[in-house]
Amino acid sequence: MGKTQGEKEMRSIDRRSFFKLGGLTAGAAALTGGMLAGCAPQSQTDMAATGGENETVDAAVPYAVFDTDILVIGAGYGASFAMQEACKAGQNMLVIDKAPYGFGGAFGMNFDIMNTWVPGAFYETEEEVPVATKIRNESLYRKTGVQNEVELNPDVVCANWGEILSARNEDGTPFYIYDFPTTRGFEHSMTRHWSDHFRAKDYITVHDRTMITDLIIEGGRCLGAVGLHIPTGEYRVYRAKVTLTATGGCTQFYGWNSTSPTTNNVCDNTADVEMALLRHGGKIANAEFGSYDMMGAFPRSFAASEGSMVGADSVHSGDLMDSEGTYLKDYPEIAEKEYLATQSGVMQAVDVVVRAGKGSESGGVYLDCKEESLATMRWMYQRNAQLLKEKFGYDFTAQPTEVVPEMYEHGGEPITDDNAMCVDAEGLFCVRANAGSEGGMMNITNRRMGRYAMKKALEYLATYEEPASVTYEGVAAEIARLEDLRTRTVDDPLRPITVRRNIQHACAEAGRPVRPADVLETVKAELDRIMAEDLPRMACADDSLVQNADWKDAIEVVNLLDIARLTVEASLAREESRDAFIRPDFPEPDDANWKCALAYTRAEDGSLSYEKIAY
Ligand SMILES: Cc1cc2nc3c(=O)[nH]c(=O)nc-3n(C[C@H](O)[C@H](O)[C@H](O)COP(=O)(O)OP(=O)(O)OC[C@H]3O[C@@H](n4cnc5c(N)ncnc54)[C@H](O)[C@@H]3O)c2cc1C
Repeated sequence: MGKTQGEKEMRSIDRRSFFKLGGLTAGAAALTGGMLAGCAPQSQTDMAATGGENETVDAAVPYAVFDTDILVIGAGYGASFAMQEACKAGQNMLVIDKAPYGFGGAFGMNFDIMNTWVPGAFYETEEEVPVATKIRNESLYRKTGVQNEVELNPDVVCANWGEILSARNEDGTPFYIYDFPTTRGFEHSMTRHWSDHFRAKDYITVHDRTMITDLIIEGGRCLGAVGLHIPTGEYRVYRAKVTLTATGGCTQFYGWNSTSPTTNNVCDNTADVEMALLRHGGKIANAEFGSYDMMGAFPRSFAASEGSMVGADSVHSGDLMDSEGTYLKDYPEIAEKEYLATQSGVMQAVDVVVRAGKGSESGGVYLDCKEESLATMRWMYQRNAQLLKEKFGYDFTAQPTEVVPEMYEHGGEPITDDNAMCVDAEGLFCVRANAGSEGGMMNITNRRMGRYAMKKALEYLATYEEPASVTYEGVAAEIARLEDLRTRTVDDPLRPITVRRNIQHACAEAGRPVRPADVLETVKAELDRIMAEDLPRMACADDSLVQNADWKDAIEVVNLLDIARLTVEASLAREESRDAFIRPDFPEPDDANWKCALAYTRAEDGSLSYEKIAY
C-alpha cells in the first residue's frame, strides 16, 4: 500500500525546515554534512510505506526522524475511532503501535468481542446527557455525549465500518445477547473488517513493532515522541504538530488471579506514555480504579485467554452463587442495593458473599453452569463448554465452576481539559482520559473519547502555530536512558523478567477490588524495596539491538513499577469505597472528601504526591 510521491513530498520534512526547527540535539554538533539523508530500514510488515522520507541523524547514537502533522500513539480501539474521525477529513497521520500485527490491542487481535452501546444514546444538547455518578470530568463527559453517535446504531455500525454481525435472528434482525434499557450487546463482530478499511487508506501509515518510550515536551508543549523499532533497535524520533495518545489501560503490573492472563488488557499496554508524562512532571490520576469481570479460576477454567474459557462476566451475574448454592441475586442486601445491575456492583456483591464466609477458596464465587444457564450465556462460552466436553471429557454443566474477579481495564490517565488536551502538555490529546472511577475505558467510552479527541486535535491543527524555538534536547537524554538500560553491567544482576515478576507478585493482592489497608501497606513496602534494591540491579542478558526482549522488558519494567506504585499509594490515600474500589476499613462512598480525582506527580527521587482535582 504505497503512497504517491506527491503525498510523500507533502509529508516529508524538507531540509530547510529541519534546520529552521533547530535540528535535533544529541548532536546539534553532529548536524552537519554528517547527517545522512535517506530511509531508515523498512520492515516488510509495516502496513504501508512510512510517512514520507525520513532522515537519519548521525548523532552519538544515530536515530531516524519522521515528521507528521498528526502522530497517533497506539492503534487499538480508541485510536481506531480517532482514525475514523481523521479519515472523514482525509487527514494524513502516522500511527505507531508496539504490537506486531499492524493494529493492536483488542482491535488488532480481533478479540471475539461483544459490541455494546446505549440504545438511543444520541443527545442533541449537553443537558440531555444523563448525570454521571462517577468521578470524572462531568463537563467533558457531556461534550463527548453530544457528538454524532449515529454510528452506535448496530445496523449503521455494520454498514459504515464493514463489520459483520453474525448474531442475527432468522428474519435478519440483530440478535442481542443482552438488551437492557441502558445497554445492548451483540457478539462476535469482526474488527478485522474495520482494520482492513484503515489499511486501504493511503493517508494512514502504521509503524508497528515500534514502542514509544518518551514524549518530547518543551516549554509545556508536546512536540512528538521518541520510539524504538523493536526488531532492529533503531531509535525513531517522531516530530508532530499534534500527538494523540491511545495506549490503553495497563493491567500488567499485577499478577492475575485466574488462569487467564489475557483476560487483562494486552501485555503491550505497560503505561509507557503515561509514565513518560509523569517523568516530565505531568499529572496522572485514577490509578486506584480498575474495572473487573468474573473469570474462571484454576484449576477448572482451562483458560489461556478469555476467548477459551467458560467465565461469568458481569452479564451473567444472575447465575453466580455462593459456596452453599444460594444465588447472589437472592441475598437481600445484594437485591436491595441492586448490586447485580452494574459491572462494578457485581464486585460489591461478591464482596458481600466473601465477607459472609461463603465465597470460594480463591476469594471468588461460583458460576452455575447447568444446561439452562449455559444456554443463555455468550456464544463463545457455550462453544468452549462444548469443546472442552468433547476434547477433555470435562462437563461444565455437571457442577458450578469457580470464578474470581480479574481486572481487565485500569485507570492511571492524564488529566485533560474539556478539549481532551492534556493540561500538562499543549498539543497532546488523550483518548484514554476521564475514565475516572469507572476504572478504565469500556469500548463505548473509547468510541466517544477517540472520536472527540481527534475532532479537537483537528481543530487545534487548523490554527497551529510553530513554537518560537525548539531544542529537542530531551531526545538525547531519552536515548541515553534507553542505552543505559540496554548496556549496563552490574554485579549480581537481575533479569528484567525477574523484576517484572516481583512487581506482579507483589501486586497480586493489591490488584483485586477489595483492598485492605494492611495488604496495601505490605505491597507498598515491597514496591519500595523493588525500587531501591531490584531496579539498580536490573540488567539485560545481552546488549543486542535486534529483537532484544530483555531490553524491551527493562524499558517496560521501569514503567510498570511506577504505575504499580501509583496504584497502591492512591489506593491507600483514598479513604472510602466506591464502585469496584472497596476499602473494608472505609466501606461507604464519601463524596464530601473523595469525589475528586487524585492527580499524582513524581519527584526526581521517585517519591509521589497528589493534589485533589474536583470535577
Ligand atoms: C479480555 C477482554 C475482553 C473484553 N471484552 C470486551 C467486550 O466484549 N466488549 C467491549 O465493549 N469491551 C470489551 N473489552 C474492553 C475493550 O477491549 C477495551 O475497552 C478496549 O480495547 C480499550 O481500547 P484502547 O484503545 O483504550 O486500548 P487498546 O485496545 O488496548 O489499545 C492500546 C494500543 O496501544 C498500543 N501500545 C501500548 N503501549 C504502546 C507504546 N508504548 N507504544 C506504541 N503502542 C503502544 C498497544 O499495542 C495497543 O494496540 C475487553 C477487554 C479485555 C481485556
